[in-house]
Parts: sequence; C-alpha cells; structure tokens
Amino acid sequence: MKNIYGITRESLENYFLEIGEKKFKALQVFEWLYQKEEANPDNWSNIKKEIRDKIKSDFSFSVPKIIRRERDTLTRKYLFQLSDQNYIEAVVMYHDYGISLCVSSQVGCNMGCAFCESGRLKKVRNLETFEMVSQILLIESDIKMRISSVVIMGIGEPLDNFRNVMNFINIINDAKGLAIGIRHITLSTSGIVPKIYDLMNMDIQINLAISLHAPNDEIRNRLMKVNKVYNISQLITAIRDYIAHTNRRVTIEYVMLKEINDSEDCALELANLLKGMNIYVNLIPYNETNHINLSKSDAKTISNFCAALKSKGINVTIRKEFGSKISAACGQLRSKEVEK
Ligand code: SF4
Repeated sequence: MKNIYGITRESLENYFLEIGEKKFKALQVFEWLYQKEEANPDNWSNIKKEIRDKIKSDFSFSVPKIIRRERDTLTRKYLFQLSDQNYIEAVVMYHDYGISLCVSSQVGCNMGCAFCESGRLKKVRNLETFEMVSQILLIESDIKMRISSVVIMGIGEPLDNFRNVMNFINIINDAKGLAIGIRHITLSTSGIVPKIYDLMNMDIQINLAISLHAPNDEIRNRLMKVNKVYNISQLITAIRDYIAHTNRRVTIEYVMLKEINDSEDCALELANLLKGMNIYVNLIPYNETNHINLSKSDAKTISNFCAALKSKGINVTIRKEFGSKISAACGQLRSKEVEK
C-alpha cells in the first residue's frame, strides 16, 4: 500500500480521476496534509466521508518515530526509527536567516567516504519518499516552527536514490505541499557524474553542492571511492556543463582534514582547478569521530587556506561549526544506536 506522504500532487490527481472524482480533491488533500498538517482524515471537513474512507483504505498514513533528540545552542539532532527498525537521522540548524534541516536519503551509504560515519556502516536500503517528507513534518511539529530550507546532505547519496529524491523535492516544493522554495533546497552529491547530468536535465533550480574535498585525484582517491569511477576531470566537466545548462552557481564542499588536504599547495591547486567557474567553496571544519582516524585542521590552517583561495579570486567561506558536541557528524547518532 502506498504511503500518502510519498505521493506527488499530480499522482494524487490521477488517483482521484481513476476513482471517478474531480482532480481538485488532490489540492484539498495536500492542504490538509501539508499546510494545516492535519494527519487524521476524519478531520478533513471539506471532503466527503465516502472519499475520506476510500483514502484511508487505499493509503498508509504511517510515519517514522522520533526516538532520540540531542540539542545544543544552534542545533537539534533527531534519531528516527523506521517501520523495519532501521534508523536514520536529521539535523536542524538555527541560522540568522531561518531554520534549515539536513535530511537523510538512504539508510547507510555505499559511497564509503573515508571521513564519514554513514559510509562506514554501508547502505541498507533507499529511503522511500514518505520517509524523507516525514522527517520535515515530524520535526516541524516537534519544534512548532516551519523549516525554511532543506539540505539533502544527511545519511546517504541522494543521486543513488534518484526517483524517490526527485519526488521528495516535488512534494516539499509544491505550493500546496510544504511550499519550500526551490532555491531553498540543496542537494549534495559525492559526484556520481551520469546522475549529475540526469539532474541537470530535470531543469529544476535547486542548489547543487558537490563534495569535492581534494584538489587532485591522488588525494581524492584516498578519501572518496567514487573518484576511482568518476575522477576529478570528469567531475569538473560535469559541473561546468551543469552550470552552463542551469545558469546556477554550484557549491563546492571541502572538508578540512589535518595534513591530508589542508596545505597551501592544496589551496593553490584547488584555486587553479576551479578558476573561472561560477562556484562557491564551502570549507568545512571536520567533525571528528571515535571510529575514524582523521583529525580536523586547526583554525589557523583553515583561515590560511581560505585566504589563499580568496587571493586567487575564488568565492569562499568557512562553514560555521554546528553541533560538534552532539554527534552532529553525518551518521554519528545512528551508528551509536546500531552498535548498541
Ligand atoms: S559523505 Fe555522504 S556520500 Fe560519502 S559515505 Fe558519507 S553519506 Fe555517503
């Protein structure tokens, strides 16, 4: 049985047409689900009882359970249990400009990035669309505030779960869905090149972030297995094509790892690689974890790296550190629960 939170408005319109009803009923259902956030069809007062009963028998309304919360000043982290007892997590970050939510797209991840807790535990399965949408609804209800931007950067490689992630974006961006502006949605990928082209051809104006993390293949091969399949040159070509096609600036994510990728030479090599591109580099202080033998670059090294990029005309900022006291590195809360 399909879950109601995994259905796009267009699919719901088709459903209503198939059962001999007017398609505008889909709009009414969306308003109840996402604008009034009323999950109980018995309370959908502008929809006839027969239709409500039909919807109840045709769709599941089950959602994951929040089983743990951790918080510090600017961050709240949630651990969810799914109906098959798997765990995923999401992180809320409070910014001056609003509240953003980092959602997971898979249970675990097969990309095996050397610095990542989620990759360490491998992929169990893709998340269904409703399991992604529910992360937002459950958290909005918990914090009693609306999420203003979404980053698909939690556990998983979103482009390895392409169809469900595209449906998720469709539902949360829908004006009668969660109405999160398309430019407030960011998808972060480790660099699966053919899928970047698939995304490009969707012609949606989301923000694309690329986890680059190294200025050359030698370092990137050590950090990211995906580089052995799609190397930096192929990735940079794909990013250039994406920018030319969408006319959108791309974010380059670069995690700062002590004595691995943080030297001045690396900064200059990176600047050379990205020269002339409509990109923005986000330097990320690494969140250390017990299981991974990598350390975070010190603050001075990060600021020197940043200055070296700036001196070469690269747009760059250092990401504010969120939640290092509360297991905020991707997958840390889940891995603690799995290993218990
Ligand atoms: S960093 Fe992202 S893509 Fe890499 S292993 Fe972790 S979750 Fe997967």
